[in-house]
Amino acid sequence: MKREMEAPIFEKGSRGRSGIDVACDDGPLPLDATLLRDDLEDFPEVSEPEVIRHYVRLSQLNYSVATNFYPLGSCTMKYNPVVNERAAALPGFAGLHPYAPEQSAQGALRLLRDLEHWLCEIGGLDAVSLQPAAGAQGELTGMKVVRAWHQSQGRPRSKVLIPESAHGTNPASATLSGYDSVSVPCDERGLLSAASVRALVDEDVAALMLTNPSTLGLFEEDIEEIAAILHAAGALLYMDGANMNALMGVAKPGHMGADVLQFNLHKTFSTPHGGGGPGAGPVAVRDFLEKFLPRPRIVERAGVLAWDNECPQSIGKVRSFYGNFGILVRAYAYMLACGGDGLAESTRMAVLAANYLKARLEGRYHVAYQRPCMHEVVLTDKLQSRTGVRTLDIAKRLLDHGFHAPTIYFPLVVSGALMIEPTESESLETLDSFIEAMTAIAIEAETDPDKVRDAPHQTLLSRLDETRAARHPLLTWQGVKSRLAT
Ligand SMILES: *Cc1c(COP(=O)(O)O)cnc(C)c1O
Repeated sequence: MKREMEAPIFEKGSRGRSGIDVACDDGPLPLDATLLRDDLEDFPEVSEPEVIRHYVRLSQLNYSVATNFYPLGSCTMKYNPVVNERAAALPGFAGLHPYAPEQSAQGALRLLRDLEHWLCEIGGLDAVSLQPAAGAQGELTGMKVVRAWHQSQGRPRSKVLIPESAHGTNPASATLSGYDSVSVPCDERGLLSAASVRALVDEDVAALMLTNPSTLGLFEEDIEEIAAILHAAGALLYMDGANMNALMGVAKPGHMGADVLQFNLHKTFSTPHGGGGPGAGPVAVRDFLEKFLPRPRIVERAGVLAWDNECPQSIGKVRSFYGNFGILVRAYAYMLACGGDGLAESTRMAVLAANYLKARLEGRYHVAYQRPCMHEVVLTDKLQSRTGVRTLDIAKRLLDHGFHAPTIYFPLVVSGALMIEPTESESLETLDSFIEAMTAIAIEAETDPDKVRDAPHQTLLSRLDETRAARHPLLTWQGVKSRLAT
């Protein structure tokens, strides 16, 4: 059924109608007359059912992991257990003031301390700062730590190597930390080869930023050799841990040679995200880098936890107070609920789900790299483009089938990329219905390509003019209505 546009509440109700009449025995409830405003033009006067229906309908226009499959690659849109929300809302956590004396915040400090330890364990590294508020800020923090360490060795160096498949935040973080980024090509396997790193490493290279598994969903097999090459040249290995959903509980970046790693708690450890909501990007490091981490650090003296602000070599604060505490509580609750075995099981299921999609869609779609994938798979529009159907069209047609589109045209190294990340939280039935939809679109691309090119047909609005929307946004209902009328 095609969905209906929901008019603003200002267009509903009628004069004199009201949602609620609170009366006491002596007539209407006495109100402070100064609070009554009758000079508000077009103020909505609506009944309670009208209000309820309006807001429930609006909420139904949203698409989220709570409504359906959300295969947005690189984002790990897994189901976020509601119990995490309950934990974060516990009054002792939600109501705790950041300036509360340490003695009365021992529980919260213990939670942070335990979370640091668990992340060290998962990452195979020695120390963690929970302060950064997002993956990108974790990268920036990590690169500042790298710079501070090189500085302490006498010279900050000038370059950072970044594979061409990297997320755009990697070169951004390197640049903001004062480095020039040098792009390193991937080989025909889609991987970063030890040889290509060896060819570029010199004594001006401060670090390599490597995402493992890469944004192509592939495990970087040469990582140990790459780490050895960097270390021999006095450089460090930074690992972007946004894809830890393919490793946690199974393999540790520290064991692969990484010196610095950021986690994206809002991806891997289940926090609702998207639309710029709060996140957390803790940074884990090897022992020799610990003293450069943001301050304050948590310290334990005779069983009592406290904040240590005396960290002379720290890069300083990167976030007010101690980071996004509520996100840290959610991640803590999630880890506790899963346990170590549960996290490893999640990883295995996430990898299995992606490989299942790959195996079932292969043939219908061109698979960018012919090797087992990790937690996501990258397809392309190569086969469909013969009839003029492109990646954008396939993504739009998926909306008609009730699915959120995958990530498209990223990573940039794959032409017409469709990057699908199913995560561990989807049932076999959901994966199968997604496969059916993708298959139907592939067939339709041959039999009725125009139908795919004109999609979506079932949504409120069809193709938007994205450039015009950004340049000339319509911010009033009147504006939207007049545009729709034309
Ligand atoms: C998501 C992502 C980032 C950025 O993380 P944010 O939390 O969005 O800042 C960095 N690198 C990779 C590989 C990612 O997938």
